[in-house]
Amino acid sequence: MSTRKKYRIAVIPGDGIGQETTPEGLRVLDAAARRFGFDLELVHYDWSCEVYSRTGKMMPDDGLEQLRQSDSVFLGAVGWPGVPDHVSLWGLLIPIRRGFDQYVNLRPCKLLPGATTPLANRGPKDIDFYVVRENTEGEYSSVGGRMFPGTDREFVSQQSILTRIGCDRVMKYAYELAMTRPRRKLTSATKSNGITFTMPYWDERFAEMGKNYPGVTTDQFHIDILCAHFVQHPDWFDVVVGSNLFGDILSDLGPAVAGSIGIAASANINPEKAFPSMFEPVHGSAPDIAGKWIANPIGQIWSGAMMLEHLGEKAAADAIVSGIERMLSEGGPRTRDMGGQAGTVDVGKALAEAVGRA
Ligand code: ATP
Ligand code: MG
Repeated sequence: MSTRKKYRIAVIPGDGIGQETTPEGLRVLDAAARRFGFDLELVHYDWSCEVYSRTGKMMPDDGLEQLRQSDSVFLGAVGWPGVPDHVSLWGLLIPIRRGFDQYVNLRPCKLLPGATTPLANRGPKDIDFYVVRENTEGEYSSVGGRMFPGTDREFVSQQSILTRIGCDRVMKYAYELAMTRPRRKLTSATKSNGITFTMPYWDERFAEMGKNYPGVTTDQFHIDILCAHFVQHPDWFDVVVGSNLFGDILSDLGPAVAGSIGIAASANINPEKAFPSMFEPVHGSAPDIAGKWIANPIGQIWSGAMMLEHLGEKAAADAIVSGIERMLSEGGPRTRDMGGQAGTVDVGKALAEAVGRA
């Protein structure tokens, strides 16, 4: 009797270069599935700004129910000039992140061979860490308001909300991730010298959770100096955990120190697998290069590797990441953002070939 596993993947290429990078992500996933002996059942959705301009909706009213049937969502990019960002964000990305309780946003920050970091004298051995961002609460609550608008008594406030459940679950994820890494190190982003209620609580929960992980070495920095350390000492970091705002900042800074935006990958994860998780490159729809087939598909392909790891296919995920590294260090095709002349499809094909090779 066959025990071959089958995963149902909702594919949303979205807008702009998402239409070009997603097929290359699928090409490499297919190569990995063949080699490692599992099946991917793909369900395609055309949800995008283009659909919005025809229907007034980024996705149908029962969109989440449709996606709910899948094991994971594989997204390209959404957003297009003329459609306000809040439409693509609040019409698609945020409902998926919130509706599926994807409380971890995970970004690997790893300098690949041949990618250029803006940091002088830094090589691949110096930059290899993960940023774990709390994705549901904290500073991005909608609690607050504006009083006495237009008068000289005008004031605004917005609350930052941390819950014990919210802190503990993201910290548990970060500690567990640190346990899987050779250095077993976890850094917390804080600001408890200036933000005197929520951030001391964050620190408290960080320390409390740490009691369960005596094998993990921990430290913490205030967000301001932490940003400086990302630039000056990226080699200090292994796994870094931050609240919604601090994690947001670090998860853009991290991929920036690791080079081209075209190679950066991300995941929005519900670790309990109660709902599908979503995997997407860090870059947007890049209208300036869309339609030219020159976009770098590596960010999309790497996001696919993160998806396989989440689904439990770690060997296949590792084969994709090492395939990317091998292809780049052997001088394989590169897109323009990495100093080459290759097209999107050339890179995808070369990687599918590299991953298919035992
Ligand atoms: P967002 O949709 O997140 O607001 P954005 O509009 O700020 O995104 P991107 O769409 O990511 O930004 O594009 C920023 C720049 O990076 C553009 O010049 C774009 O061409 C370039 N870029 C983005 N992704 C890629 C890629 N995969 N390959 C090559 N260049 C890219
Ligand atoms: Mg944009």
